[in-house]
Amino acid sequence: MQYYSTNQQAPKADLKEAVVRGLAPDKGLHMPEQLPVFSSAFFEQLHNLSLQEIGAEVAKCFFGDSVDNKALKQIAEETLNFEIPLVKLSEQIFSLELFHGPTCAFKDVGGRFMARMLAYFTQNEQQDIYVLTATSGDTGSAVASGFFNVPGIKVIILYPKGKVSHIQEQQLTTHGHNITALEVDGTFDDCQKLVKEAFNTEGLRKKLKLTSANSINLARFLPQAIYYYHAVAQLGKTDKKIVFSVPSGNFGNLTAGIFAWNSGLPVHKFIAATNVNDIVPQYLETGIFSPKHSIKTLANAMDVGNPSNFVRMLEIFEHQHDKMAEMVKGFSLDDEGIQKYMQLIYEKHQYIADPHGAIGYAALDQQLQENEVGIFLETAHPAKFIDITEKVLQREVPIPERLGAYLKKKKEAVPLKADFNAFQDYLYSIS
Ligand SMILES: *Cc1c(COP(=O)(O)O)cnc(C)c1O
Repeated sequence: MQYYSTNQQAPKADLKEAVVRGLAPDKGLHMPEQLPVFSSAFFEQLHNLSLQEIGAEVAKCFFGDSVDNKALKQIAEETLNFEIPLVKLSEQIFSLELFHGPTCAFKDVGGRFMARMLAYFTQNEQQDIYVLTATSGDTGSAVASGFFNVPGIKVIILYPKGKVSHIQEQQLTTHGHNITALEVDGTFDDCQKLVKEAFNTEGLRKKLKLTSANSINLARFLPQAIYYYHAVAQLGKTDKKIVFSVPSGNFGNLTAGIFAWNSGLPVHKFIAATNVNDIVPQYLETGIFSPKHSIKTLANAMDVGNPSNFVRMLEIFEHQHDKMAEMVKGFSLDDEGIQKYMQLIYEKHQYIADPHGAIGYAALDQQLQENEVGIFLETAHPAKFIDITEKVLQREVPIPERLGAYLKKKKEAVPLKADFNAFQDYLYSIS
């Protein structure tokens, strides 16, 4: 399989090139030349397959012509060594719990897969590889945990100062070894911009081998398709139409779901569930894509004003607004609504949702039709946002042990101005 750039100004790349460099040389995002399609035999079998079996099949279909089969199976199995259960809240609404991995957010799936695939592709490299990662809270820790102590790889995380939760900050800043956290005096969009600019600076790229672990990287966003198949497998046979509600920020998660649907998975529609950073819901309504500065909300991992994977969605739907709007519905919820729904979900189902998952639930609550069944992606463990969860629900939220361990460690972060020259100086200083 070859991968083209969404900007159409760069030569096609093979998988290794696309994964190692992250962004295409013309600043576009890589897309597979053909969208993978599964055999009907796979879907007939789906209900009988385990998460790891589905993972291995999906990885083979997406990446099988570029990675040795045995290695790929191992990458998928190691990535998916935790459960992703589908939990029933009511006859019509299910929660796909994506927080059972090491850092308690769905980004563990992509982060772990990408770390392993990058290590596979670079095992014979002499030079260290620098993985630059801008994070709104959860990506950084998933990537850090995935790459921790991997020889030859150094991870640099940029996170917005004061805009991630305390637990998230501890998860970003306490690894040490090959992981460095930069505390950027700015927003997530500033962090993302610094990373993009670093890639576009030739002098820097000559000196340092850079890659990105944001969802612009194929090896990170595509494997997320796996759990959409796994959700349908767990749902079992149903005559209802399946709706996925996806709490979204940069739209990597939702785009992976669209790949799964396009490959033949029976999905009736997707809901792009956002907080007040509603750029994509606005587009779906008006046909106009108009990025803005991000606004800080209680669902901070989705505070994104210029969602990077939107261009991939455009590609899949061939730049036709009506095609996308038919398959993807918009939904947005403000902070007051988030709190209201967290309470409602708890009262109605005795279920503690995190602020992001609560938006996903709210979208189903308001949009599901009678002949539909809804699955919202519960993208993080509520304890990652313990301050707000406890305040809103007026009860204690238990912290999983793997999360609590981070709280006991000492924060180490390098302060950085949201200024490219400062970032560049820093990168030169460590090389
Ligand atoms: C990153 C994140 C999201 C948004 O995912 P995208 O793929 O960027 O749309 C939603 N919820 C949580 C908890 C996250 O960490």
